[in-house]
Amino acid sequence: MGLLEKIKKDFPFKVKIGDKTIKYRPWNTKEEKNYLLVSGSKENPTFEDIENILLTNCVENYDEIKKDLTEGEKYLLLLEIRKFSISETIDLKFECVKCKKLNDLAAPLDKIVHYKEANYKEVKLDNKVFYFGKPKTEKLVERVREEKDPIEKEFKNLLIHIQKIEIDDEVFDSFTFEELYEFVSNLPAKEFDELSKEFNEMKEEFDVYLDTYCMFCNAENKVVFGGIEDFLWG
Ligand SMILES: [Zn+2]
Repeated sequence: MGLLEKIKKDFPFKVKIGDKTIKYRPWNTKEEKNYLLVSGSKENPTFEDIENILLTNCVENYDEIKKDLTEGEKYLLLLEIRKFSISETIDLKFECVKCKKLNDLAAPLDKIVHYKEANYKEVKLDNKVFYFGKPKTEKLVERVREEKDPIEKEFKNLLIHIQKIEIDDEVFDSFTFEELYEFVSNLPAKEFDELSKEFNEMKEEFDVYLDTYCMFCNAENKVVFGGIEDFLWG
């Protein structure tokens, strides 16, 4: 038997994310090297870079299942694999806001990752009903990811979660993104505020920060991360 036949190709680990059970394996040396190459050559590796290098290979049938995963679920999956590939903690240094001393600790990932599952439902406004749900295509999610302006990003994120609109009992569910953009842009500001408030309560949330205490003076400290790219190998 040739040596290369000994290379493990199976996915020994399982994780439940939302209602899906996903099989995966830890990163190998080649993947780790590729990731470090990309993150060393770019100031900020994009999520697509990370996805292509780390998720596509390490998750069983990733190309098929990725369309059913939300952005937050992909992050959770990535961090789950990171636990088995590197460790369940990250080495963290921060200066205390009060005594200014340098804290050095191994923080558990589970304390850093804050995730709220989405809870989509319909919103009734005057003579209209907006039905919210997961974005129908990957392309829509990309539109939001590519948007640089934070206000536009938030606006587009709301739009891609609208699946259907009823107006005076007439149903609209086959509009283009551009049509929807135009339609929602023309809503009275008061109606949009209400819609946006409701959406913020139901949308998925993924955040990375650590609430902790200084080991010298016990003052409360909040350590904020730029994104998961910041501590994937930290
Ligand atoms: Zn302190």
